[in-house]
Amino acid sequence: MRKQIVAGNWKMNMNLQEGIQLAKSINDYFCEKPAKKAEVILCTPFIHLSGVAPILKADKLSLGAQNCASEVSGAYTGEVSADMIKSTGAQYVILGHSERRSYYHEDNALLNKKTVIALKSGLKVIFCCGEVKEERESGKHFDVVKKQLEEGLLNLPVGDMKNIVIAYEPVWAIGTGLTASPEQAQEIHKFIRTLVEKHYGKTVAEEMTILYGGSCKPSNANEIFSKPDVDGGLIGGAALKKEDFTAIVEAF
Ligand code: PEP
Repeated sequence: MRKQIVAGNWKMNMNLQEGIQLAKSINDYFCEKPAKKAEVILCTPFIHLSGVAPILKADKLSLGAQNCASEVSGAYTGEVSADMIKSTGAQYVILGHSERRSYYHEDNALLNKKTVIALKSGLKVIFCCGEVKEERESGKHFDVVKKQLEEGLLNLPVGDMKNIVIAYEPVWAIGTGLTASPEQAQEIHKFIRTLVEKHYGKTVAEEMTILYGGSCKPSNANEIFSKPDVDGGLIGGAALKKEDFTAIVEAF
């Protein structure tokens, strides 16, 4: 049985005290009412990681970062390395989010390098892919996702795949209120699983967790998560409110 996951991406929101408050309230909630199916991951800003790590005591509640440096260590002012992230107690890192790809020009080669470094540090990687609106409208979304995954991820050794989670996030659905229909999500998740199978075989493909992200909320999560190739969600805006986030986790 492959793992189901709901990961919250806090992006650049909340100061340290507010973040700790939210983490505490989410932890308290899941201590009282453990998540039945999914592993729950809080992906916080770097600055929050070491403060949030000791708070997360609930079963199946994990911690992640939203990016890491593309070098291991050294004179890279302002960067945060994968080893540093790991040393806070975090287990995951998101790489290839569309905001990193578009605002910071992170390309597939750079993301491949970051992924290798993150895995070497012992982090699990949530690797994002997804097309922009024009690509979807012109029917290029399959090619775009294929290229992102083949150049960024699917050239790694097979043994690394157990530490990878793929997140399909159509850019036109991120923070816009627009959501892929459950059928659109299923279609491309199935495509991604088939692509993984082509590179690594059936067992690896069947065990790969593939998340949907893009305006996921309590009102639509259940329908999207019920599709056979959708194994959970990467949640942005709704991850900042305990009630919405926990309701999405319970949508399974
Ligand atoms: C995201 O940024 O990963 C995301 C899915 O955002 P939102 O849920 O706000 O669309």
